[in-house]
Amino acid sequence: MTTGRALADLRDAAVDLSRKSGIAILPEEVSSVYLNDFGLGEFEETGLAVLRFVDTQLVSVKLMLLLPGQTCPEHRHRPVEGYPGKEETFRCQWGECYLHLPGPPTPDPKAVPPARRRDHYTVWHEIGLRPGDQYTSPSDTLHWFQGGPEGAAVWSFCSRVVVGADEFTDPQIRAALASRYQEAR
Ligand code: ZN
Repeated sequence: MTTGRALADLRDAAVDLSRKSGIAILPEEVSSVYLNDFGLGEFEETGLAVLRFVDTQLVSVKLMLLLPGQTCPEHRHRPVEGYPGKEETFRCQWGECYLHLPGPPTPDPKAVPPARRRDHYTVWHEIGLRPGDQYTSPSDTLHWFQGGPEGAAVWSFCSRVVVGADEFTDPQIRAALASRYQEAR
């Protein structure tokens, strides 16, 4: 479990990453950085920090901050009620990010998922993103990604976000998020 003090340090690390990214960010935006641990309490291994800039009924724009080796776990954005599901474009702003998608497995990928969760990672086609590189993941397509040796600041340009439509491969994350949604109701 990540302690309060460690969490403050992690927040500082995320803010530091956002500064390195060179993007103009207001102090109140910096203080609103969201640390997502996907309910696992292992933020440094499985998690990411998020700065959300636009979140409307049509689009979402956010900056995702990944610590070195930190992983956003495998998931897909499911279709719901006539909506094909969230389409997501990743664009690297700073550092290096390894995006994984369905396709021919990359020999010797740079990303290594957390060892005890390895079974919950099933797509192994790796796309390395450096500043200026971008890639669009179609809706309803499995993907996961990891920060490089110095971490990464990565834009996410998306169509509409639907709460509860993200399906994670790891059953422990599915259970944790399900109980979180339940509490929020
Ligand atoms: Zn996604």
